[in-house]
Amino acid sequence: MTEHDTDIPRIFAAQKAEVVARRSTFDYQARQAALDRLRDKILAEEDAICAALMADFGKHRDEVMLTEIMPVLLELTHTRKHLRRWMRPKRAPSGLVLLGTSAKVRPTPKGVALIIAPWNFPFNLAVGPLVSALAAGCSVVLKPSEHTPATSRLIQRMMADIFPPDLVTVVTGGVETATELLEQPFDHIFFTGSPEVGQIVMAAASKTLATVTLELGGKSPVIVGPDADIKKAARWIAWGRLLNAGQTCVATDHVYVHNSLREAFLQALDAQITKMYGADAIQSQDLAQMAHAGQFSRVADLIADARAKGATVFRGGQVDEDRRKIAPTVLVDLRDDMDIQQSEIFGPVLPVMPYDALDDVIARINAAPHPLALYVFGGKALADEVLSRTTSGTFAVNLSVMVFVHPAAPFGGVGRSGNGGAHGHAGFAAFSHMRQDLRARVFPFHLAFPPYTKTTARLIALFKRIVQI
Ligand code: NAD
Repeated sequence: MTEHDTDIPRIFAAQKAEVVARRSTFDYQARQAALDRLRDKILAEEDAICAALMADFGKHRDEVMLTEIMPVLLELTHTRKHLRRWMRPKRAPSGLVLLGTSAKVRPTPKGVALIIAPWNFPFNLAVGPLVSALAAGCSVVLKPSEHTPATSRLIQRMMADIFPPDLVTVVTGGVETATELLEQPFDHIFFTGSPEVGQIVMAAASKTLATVTLELGGKSPVIVGPDADIKKAARWIAWGRLLNAGQTCVATDHVYVHNSLREAFLQALDAQITKMYGADAIQSQDLAQMAHAGQFSRVADLIADARAKGATVFRGGQVDEDRRKIAPTVLVDLRDDMDIQQSEIFGPVLPVMPYDALDDVIARINAAPHPLALYVFGGKALADEVLSRTTSGTFAVNLSVMVFVHPAAPFGGVGRSGNGGAHGHAGFAAFSHMRQDLRARVFPFHLAFPPYTKTTARLIALFKRIVQI
């Protein structure tokens, strides 16, 4: 096999054969060693990773460190620290039900996993799930996005440097490659991307009965309540919207601000954007580009459509096609028939809508697909009320985006924003099968086998009393 084999059935077959052969040897030590190799490689290639992301979409080095490299290193640190405990078989006491047996739940590798990654955090969202897959003992075929060629090529080279292809192979390519990959009978598919492609992935998985983790997107709303700390809210909301030029799955997509704070909030937002990116924010080196031309025109069209239908640009609105840059833009006077109100914005554009009654906001949130994140700025009473009356993949109060980086809480969507959890133990569990290992010691259940007699009926009655049914 060459370093960058492109024959997908052959890549899959080699991994399948090896995952079986490796079952008893890819133990705790071997997995730790693989994770160590990955950590050392990332540390050694930090400059190359930053350069690739600068080439792909003009992302500032500090933003690459904060949003691409650090999250993966944190994931590695957390996983290496807890892996022994996660791998340990857990006793499963049955109480009186199966008295005379012992059982354990053994996390076992699902087998060969496919990871399909998007372009928006092309390093983080490709290598982060790889950490979980290796921790779980799986082999991995990883397909990064075709829209970030420099980063994808770098990931391919880095993985080929440190892992044999029957443990990790990176396959580059677009839809055609992804489609061919999805025809292989993978044991688990971990997909991060849009809900539309998520549907295609799930349909493909249904043919082979692969399990799936779907990390999807959607519109994550923000509520700024009457008791919010306006400056803090504006700071977190502006950052959550403008980080990665808005191309973030847990971005603060749109804001419902209590009418009493509308003006003050808009002023605070303006001040925070200026503080972070300067008065002429489109020129800022700290503001990333739109990742590709299609992405640029989609977001520019959203602004144009909203304007044409009567939205007011409170701030921003400028676009620079040559540099694929869009100014941080705040829109007001919105209507539901505007495209921006219907689709995930995925750009540095923030619609701000005033509200009077919380009930109306909650009704709107509940009428839309369940969001990946739901953000509340305000006191505990407001937060608890919103939490108890809505559903979302994640929920956060008085901050944004950080739901993605929490090492010990599952990250994931619900319904149209995805299913299954990622990161930490949830990520490990996604790539593991929790295998039941049940062993008989003194277990006279054969007394209840046929032929059924009066004794059987008496035993059943006795059993019902014992287990208190
Ligand atoms: P996308 O769905 O277009 O592409 C993601 C991956 O799927 C790419 O590798 C692509 O090659 C592949 N793909 C595209 N079309 C395919 C097809 N027909 N069959 C099989 N594979 C196909 O997503 P994107 O535009 O790269 O990313 C943006 C989306 O991802 C947004 O909706 C965003 O919210 C979501 N997202 C979610 C998370 C999360 O963790 N939940 C993180 C980042 C992005």
